[in-house]
Amino acid sequence: MAALTFADARRTVIDKVRAALPPPKTESIRLAEAAGRILAQPIHADRDYPPQPRSMRDGFAVRAADLPGTLELIGEVRAGQPANLTLAPGQAIEIMTGATIPPGADSVVMIEHTTAEGALITIGRALERGANINPQGCDAAAGAVLLQPGHRIGYPEQALLASVGAACVTVYLRPRVAILATGDELVEIDSHPSPHQIRNSNSWSLAHQVLRAGGEAIVLPIAPDRMDATIDLIHDGLQADLLLLSGGVSAGKYDLVENALRHFAAQFYFDRVLIQPGQPCVFGEAGGTFFFGLPGNPASTMVCFEVFARAAVELLAGVAEPMLNFTLAPLAAPFHHKAGLTRFLPARLLPGGTVAPLRWSGSGDIASITRANCYLVAAPDRPEYAAAELIQILPL
Ligand code: AMP
Ligand code: MG
Repeated sequence: MAALTFADARRTVIDKVRAALPPPKTESIRLAEAAGRILAQPIHADRDYPPQPRSMRDGFAVRAADLPGTLELIGEVRAGQPANLTLAPGQAIEIMTGATIPPGADSVVMIEHTTAEGALITIGRALERGANINPQGCDAAAGAVLLQPGHRIGYPEQALLASVGAACVTVYLRPRVAILATGDELVEIDSHPSPHQIRNSNSWSLAHQVLRAGGEAIVLPIAPDRMDATIDLIHDGLQADLLLLSGGVSAGKYDLVENALRHFAAQFYFDRVLIQPGQPCVFGEAGGTFFFGLPGNPASTMVCFEVFARAAVELLAGVAEPMLNFTLAPLAAPFHHKAGLTRFLPARLLPGGTVAPLRWSGSGDIASITRANCYLVAAPDRPEYAAAELIQILPL
């Protein structure tokens, strides 16, 4: 099978998963439990926002035509009170931020731009009509769609849901994502590894990444590098909505994962991508369940999940448009890499705003990745970058 570019591989994942999405399942949850969930219903404005014209400042409600001038103060409107005074020409009403504009007023002058003497307020400047007023419905008109299904509930969404009184919201069920680490050298974290063994860490990073993407992680026992045991555990993993395997997809004699998957009449959409780390990354489908074979090096597993598998989890979770939040940052120093592969290197966005790749000893160096706050993304056709040149980064 030909190796795909990064962009083609990502497009393949999104197209294949989107084309085979099962009918969505939903549940109703309380707003307090909604953080990070994906909306399955549209959210409408239950009334105009703001419901009445509202002052943006502490000051005086006035008529713009009266300014500049000296006006007679006839009372006040506070936030949380109905405006039951009417303003006549030559008058001012003291008003607080968020309070309703009283009938007759068309502008608000900031308190800082006034001088008071008893019941007389002097304003030395002219004001445009409508100044410092949020007209009724300027944020949203009653009935307008504020959020569409497929939108993730972040903190601004939680505020919006609260403001329209959505005490309960309908969200998509989280997809169940099975995680299967493979490797004879792996032991569970509560074991004491012999010198030739290591603890299984990939299941932990993956479980976290799955949760963050909107899925529910089901961690299976470690699969040893034996065909029968690997087949049995893949069988269990394929009962989930998505299966993530780590390790066993390289060219080694004991890399059995692809052959074990063939036992389930798997279809492979790619088994090599022109990226680093993570070149032997596998994506396919068996018995109606998509799977990823993520190369076992911890950095490879993390990167391949972020750039490929996360999109699949998000689509299954109901996200309308999976996105990678690439941005650009200036390099702290010149950077070069061998052309041909898209590289995702642990890097640090520094306080001054420049980015620098971290020193690391290779894809197994988990400690270095914990010092990173982004990946530096080096393009396959750009071997040389100058200092201060903009380069793509991907938040960690
Ligand atoms: P593999 O992809 O199976 O060839 O493994 C590549 C490297 O990643 C080897 O050094 C493995 O020991 C390591 N590795 C594989 N699986 C895991 C895991 N679950 N946790 C930590 N390291 C792993
Ligand atoms: Mg292995």
